[in-house]
Amino acid sequence: MKKFMKEFKEFAIKGNMIDMAIGVIIGGAFTALVGAFTANIVNPLLALIPGVNSLDEALKIVLKEAVVEDGAVVSEEVAIKFGAFLSAIITFLILALIIFLLVKSINKMRKAEEERKKAAEPPAEPAAPTTKICPFCKSEIAIDATRCPHCTSELPSAGE
Ligand SMILES: [Zn+2]
Repeated sequence: MKKFMKEFKEFAIKGNMIDMAIGVIIGGAFTALVGAFTANIVNPLLALIPGVNSLDEALKIVLKEAVVEDGAVVSEEVAIKFGAFLSAIITFLILALIIFLLVKSINKMRKAEEERKKAAEPPAEPAAPTTKICPFCKSEIAIDATRCPHCTSELPSAGE
């Protein structure tokens, strides 16, 4: 049991579990926020369209009417609710758009940060040449060669 606790502790601290948990909590809150936006702002605006009292009510096919006796619902209405489904699609599209904008701005920030870092670093000097051309046979040979391996000519030593 002690070992189990130790392993769990390591997992919780070492891994990105805390980051992940924060992500899940914020994601949940965010979804609730967008859901509220659709339910309280988008749907009422759609309901302003003449003849549409409520999106959920306007777009549905009732398969079986509710049975009401003495003001009490005996059996629930059975319906295909396109309106409710459309609401869910609108919520999803809003979420997708916000996430897209979020990811886009984060990428932009990352890119700017990388460029800033790059600008701070001095540009890498071009690599020193490791070969030279033999003046006699025009072959490419090692920079510090004193005799050409191709034509066997003696070469002036480097620096001369
Ligand atoms: Zn040569």
